[in-house]
Amino acid sequence: MRSAVTVSVLSLAYLQLSAAHVGCNGQELIRRQTVQSEGQSTNPNTECQGYSYAPLEAIQQNYPGSWVTASILPNDTEALALYNKINTEVTAQFPNIQPHGTHNGSFAGVQYNSSDPDCWWTWSNCVTPAASTGLQPDWASVPEPETFGLTFDDGPNCAHNLFYDFLQENNQKATMFYIGSNIYDSPLQGLRGFADGHHICVHTWSHQYMTSFTNEVAFAELYYTRKIITELFGVTPLCWRPPYGDVDNRIRAIAKGLNLTTVMWVNDTADWTLDEPNTNNWPTVDANYQYVIDGASNGMWSEFGPIVLAHELTNMTMTEAMTYYPKIKAAFRHVVPLASAFNVTSPYAEGNVSYPDFKTYTSGQTNQTICQGRCDAVGETTSSSATSATGQMTATTASTHSASVTASAKASSVVVAKTGGAKRSRWLSGGLTIMMAGVCGVIML
Ligand SMILES: [Zn+2]
Repeated sequence: MRSAVTVSVLSLAYLQLSAAHVGCNGQELIRRQTVQSEGQSTNPNTECQGYSYAPLEAIQQNYPGSWVTASILPNDTEALALYNKINTEVTAQFPNIQPHGTHNGSFAGVQYNSSDPDCWWTWSNCVTPAASTGLQPDWASVPEPETFGLTFDDGPNCAHNLFYDFLQENNQKATMFYIGSNIYDSPLQGLRGFADGHHICVHTWSHQYMTSFTNEVAFAELYYTRKIITELFGVTPLCWRPPYGDVDNRIRAIAKGLNLTTVMWVNDTADWTLDEPNTNNWPTVDANYQYVIDGASNGMWSEFGPIVLAHELTNMTMTEAMTYYPKIKAAFRHVVPLASAFNVTSPYAEGNVSYPDFKTYTSGQTNQTICQGRCDAVGETTSSSATSATGQMTATTASTHSASVTASAKASSVVVAKTGGAKRSRWLSGGLTIMMAGVCGVIML
């Protein structure tokens, strides 16, 4: 008998729900402890007001700081042991792949074999490593025809309640790629995403170009993001998306060592450009959305469906997503999170969440079930589940047509030599004062 329970972290809710206390510089900080308390406002100023959260305070010393480039923390023997194991395997298999470019995306002067031996997406939009590597193809499209793979990057946004309310009202789940630093800054917003039944994946700790990092830093960027999700949400993701799509076989192998499937896209809305000052990119982003939608009526998605890159980065990106959602719903047969698209019914390592497979989801049963212990512990093994606690997430149908999609559909193009844009993950115009474990500071976001 499967029993639904409240997320363990939520049960830790403290009684002093809104007991304000004095924080940095004498101002009062709200002591929020529940998703409900954080989720009740749709005023961005209120939503993004600093708060302390006891479960995070208890563990935050075990993490890199907010927006700090991750590295294995001193005395973190568990991380070090896992890194050493993964690093031994990665260096043995890919001894010649070196880091390249800068952390903010400048690849000027980088020498690289034009045949793209490392399946470096930034170079060639490669999403299909050579079979000899043993690496699975990235997820770049969904196997179901006329089906829109709904994904949002860069969350949790502290001001996402209106957007998440919208998704809830539409009984719509999405795959959310969360940044570790954003969870660290906005843990309850992240918890809401999980509690709402969205499919949670990793989007690194500090959102920089992963192929620029050493093995150790690349590992740490993934490891600590995965770990904070485990510790706060009670589930361990099995998927990740590289910021800016910057991935090659070395980084894929590190992710594989952490049981993380690499997820890409075939269509980029470029909605993040709406955040750039003094530019009017609305027509371009409108056109990008419309291109994908038009594909539903011109046969582009007759054999598979697009995974589309969009963001919960700013009010503008979320507004654009809400504007186009009804049009997407009207044009496509189905709009689904990736776990359902790939029939991954056990999307977290613990096996304590049962997710609706494609058939179930598209019949209208979109909610996940949270079990006490493994959902299959009493013999209720879901036949379409292809995930294990130790194995990398695999789908019942592999995304094998990604390369042709990239060529035929409107994949985003990248000029390798171009300097990357400003860090896209800091969306607020003002400063946000936080206090955690007695450490005060003003972060200019
Ligand atoms: Zn991102």
